[in-house]
Amino acid sequence: MAEPLLVCDLAQQFCVWKRIQSAVTLLVSQERLAFMQQLEAVPVYRSRATRSLGCYVSVAGQPRCIRLQFKQEYSCLQETFLHEVAHLCDHLQNFSSLSYRGAHRRGWQQWATALEIPVKRSGVSEAIDALYKERLKAVAVCQGCGEIVYRLRRLPANKRFYHRSCGHRLTPL
Ligand SMILES: [Zn+2]
Ligand SMILES: [Zn+2]
Repeated sequence: MAEPLLVCDLAQQFCVWKRIQSAVTLLVSQERLAFMQQLEAVPVYRSRATRSLGCYVSVAGQPRCIRLQFKQEYSCLQETFLHEVAHLCDHLQNFSSLSYRGAHRRGWQQWATALEIPVKRSGVSEAIDALYKERLKAVAVCQGCGEIVYRLRRLPANKRFYHRSCGHRLTPL
């Protein structure tokens, strides 16, 4: 298997390595080198998700990886990458060795600002929205109004489902 890409590889690829370095210079006053070394060595894996553009994963208080959906537009990709780097930095700085509970609160917001990305919960990618819609399947039809219901996965066969907008039963297709 190929070596995983690391945060430092992608930062260079997306031309944001300097931006990350200046954010760290701004916000980390002690043991900056150790902070950078931890940060740059975190692997970045491909995500196939279509409802989220990326995510930061930690296990037992330690950074594990960043997952990125690479099929989003280049401009989104750079921003999503930095969004997840902001979570990683927030974890390293404010929840060191603890499980990460930063979400999009103050610590993360400071990093997002320093990394010059929008301080908002999630980005929007038309490419990924289109990919999501492509994967939807017709899974059921409503016995009341006849509307067809689309989902990513089939409905479990052992349960009854009702149409949210009219209340009638859904028949799996
Ligand atoms: Zn986030
Ligand atoms: Zn209905």
